[in-house]
Amino acid sequence: MPRQFPHDDARGQSLATSVPEDVTPADRCPFCDRPFPTERLCALHLGERHDDALDETERDRYESANDTETDELFVYHLKIVAAFICTFFGFTYVYVFVWI
Ligand SMILES: [Zn+2]
Repeated sequence: MPRQFPHDDARGQSLATSVPEDVTPADRCPFCDRPFPTERLCALHLGERHDDALDETERDRYESANDTETDELFVYHLKIVAAFICTFFGFTYVYVFVWI
């Protein structure tokens, strides 16, 4: 039976996060008690939802986590563009060498 952790979303509506019995959350939000599987996700949540209540250490953690998230998103976008280009040229070569 998963454990339920009630918390409020950004609009103030009550939500519940389910955590399986055999999983221990890596970190919890000190303001809304929401559990997170990694400390980085908790730092991102703190910066996005409780920005006005952060101290200097929490703000540094958020900025570091946000930089890492931005870099990973940029690399993901590069991979998507590369996949589109490879698919385009792959179909072009197939068209040229097979059907012409
Ligand atoms: Zn929170």
